[in-house]
Amino acid sequence: MYPKVDLHSHTLASDGALTPAELVARAAEMGVEMLAITDHDTCAGLAEGRRVAETLGIELINGIELSTTWNGAGVHIVGLGVDPASAAMVEAQTHQHEARRLRAIEIGRRLDKLGMPGALEGARDLAGDAEIGRPHFARFLLAQGHVRTMDEAFRSYLGAGKPGDVKCHWPSMPQVVDWITASGGIAVVAHPGKYKMTWSKLRRLLKDFIAAGGQGLEVSYSGENPDRVRELIRLANDNGLLASVGSDFHSPAFHWAELGKYPPLRGEIQPVWERF
Ligand code: AMP
Ligand code: MN
Ligand code: MN
Ligand code: MN
Repeated sequence: MYPKVDLHSHTLASDGALTPAELVARAAEMGVEMLAITDHDTCAGLAEGRRVAETLGIELINGIELSTTWNGAGVHIVGLGVDPASAAMVEAQTHQHEARRLRAIEIGRRLDKLGMPGALEGARDLAGDAEIGRPHFARFLLAQGHVRTMDEAFRSYLGAGKPGDVKCHWPSMPQVVDWITASGGIAVVAHPGKYKMTWSKLRRLLKDFIAAGGQGLEVSYSGENPDRVRELIRLANDNGLLASVGSDFHSPAFHWAELGKYPPLRGEIQPVWERF
C-alpha cells in the first residue's frame, strides 16, 4: 500500500475555487498525507498553504504546473519540489505571467470578433489577483448567456482547435523542464491521456522530455480509465520515469475530481514521492 499522496491540485492563485488554506484543510479531511499545490504558472499559493500544512501535520510539496507547447500541442509540465524563490522559478513565473497577459488580450480580441464583446475585462474581473486563464473566460461567457455550461464554452470557443485556444505565447517544453530542474525540482508530464495523442506521439514527447532532463510521468489522475493507467505505468517503467499521481483538484463543485482520489495503481512503479 502506498501512502495517500496527491501531487496535483489548484487554488485561487490560478483557476481553483479554494484559498490555499481551504485546500490544505480539505486535503487533510480527505486523509491526504502528502500534497503538492501545483497552480498554473504560479507559486503564489505556496506560502499560505505551507503555514496551514504545518499546523495540520500534512506534508506540503512546493509545486507548479507550467504551460508549454510541443510540436504544436499544448502540454502541461508539473514541477515538484521547486524552490519558488530561485532565479529560475522567478524567471519562469515572470515569463508565464506576461504570456498569460498577452494571451488574454488575444483571446478577448477573438471573442470580440465573434460577437462577444467585453470578454477581456470580464475575465480580468473574475480572475482578480489570480493568473488569468481560459476558465475565467468560460465563466464570463456563461454569465453573459453566450453558453449554457463551462463545458460548452470550451467545446465551442476555448478548447483545442477553437478560436480561444491561443498557444503562441507558451515557451517550449525543454525550456520549462530546464526552469524546473534549475530550481531544484523534478519535472513531470501532467495528465498524458488528456492530449489526445497517439501512443507513438506520446512516446516521442517522452523522448524529448527525457532528453531535456524530465524525470516523471503522471500515471494516474482524475477521469483516466484503469486500462490507460496500466498502460501509462508500463510507459513510465519502460522509459525509466518516476510515477506521479494527483487529482488535479480545482473545486468542490467538480464532483469528478476530489483531493486524494484517482484510479488505483496496480503493479510495480517507481514513486516520485519517495524522492521527497
Ligand atoms: P489555461 O490554463 O488558461 O489554458 O486553461 C486550462 C484550464 O481550463 C485547465 O487547467 C482546466 O482547469 C480548464 N478546462 C479545460 N477544459 C475544460 C472544460 N471542458 N470544462 C471546464 N474546464 C476546463
Ligand atoms: Mn486548470
Ligand atoms: Mn493541466
Ligand atoms: Mn492541473
